[in-house]
Amino acid sequence: MTNYQLVLDYIVEAVRPQFGKGKVADYIPALAGVPPRKFGIAVCTMDGQIFKAGDADEGFSVQSISKLFVLQLVMQHFGNMIWTRVGKEPSGDRFNSMLRLEQEQGIPRNPFINPGALVILDLLQSLKGDAYQRIRNYLRFLSMNETLDSNPTVADSEFNHAHVNRALAHLMKGYGNIHGDVEALMEIYCFQCAMEMSCVELAIAGLPLAGGGYSRPHETAVISKSQAKRINSVMLTCGMYDSVGSFAYRVGLPAKSGVGGGILAVAPEKLTVCTWGPELDAYGNSYVGTAALEMFTEMTHTSIS
Ligand code: GLU
Repeated sequence: MTNYQLVLDYIVEAVRPQFGKGKVADYIPALAGVPPRKFGIAVCTMDGQIFKAGDADEGFSVQSISKLFVLQLVMQHFGNMIWTRVGKEPSGDRFNSMLRLEQEQGIPRNPFINPGALVILDLLQSLKGDAYQRIRNYLRFLSMNETLDSNPTVADSEFNHAHVNRALAHLMKGYGNIHGDVEALMEIYCFQCAMEMSCVELAIAGLPLAGGGYSRPHETAVISKSQAKRINSVMLTCGMYDSVGSFAYRVGLPAKSGVGGGILAVAPEKLTVCTWGPELDAYGNSYVGTAALEMFTEMTHTSIS
């Protein structure tokens, strides 16, 4: 039996030399002030046991990790038709790149790059009811924290600087792949990205992906087995932007990162592991988090291969 606590305590110390090698995201001004040398790691096993070390209980901006959960909500409602509006191939470009979007007539490569997430959110927004509430309620349920919320300062800061994301949305609207109002879409997108969760909460929230849709702590099948399989597969090939290949080589697990410095990784039928380290590499993924996950999977022999 692996002693996860021992492993996490070791990793918290072993990653220290990696501090200072990456850079905190500053293109969203409210994120620039996050203390760079924070580090947390949490593991949640299939039976709901939690192991944690470092700043694992501190809330941080989930940013693109939210795309994982909004995708679940939209798949629950729309099923496979979503793939007519968004692809499932790695983009090989930056997360907010516009390059291929014009070449490919406004159909984003996958749901985890920004244009793909905007299309997914446009689908959610087309449903009756308040999309804000729907996202917040779902994250509260998944994280088992009824007080979870979005940080309005971060959401406003991104909204006021979201020129590239607005351009992506308008380009797609020009091609007919965004149906709703762009400003309303941007508002809810910034709200979704500014949700604050800790490593522990994200590890719990990811459990249905590890359990073929079912999660023991939630006592229910949150998504179907097939949906869990499909989402994990798209995470494996597209979850870490244009360094997804080297991440897969180093870590060996499907994962989703955010520019807030979080990474949530899923070991099917075994566990979830979430890290937080705000300093990012050149691709927008946590520098320390990636190193920590590589150590974790090497030490515990946890990988899909
Ligand atoms: N809110 C961020 C953006 O749209 C999310 C990017 C990310 O976390 O990778 O730029």
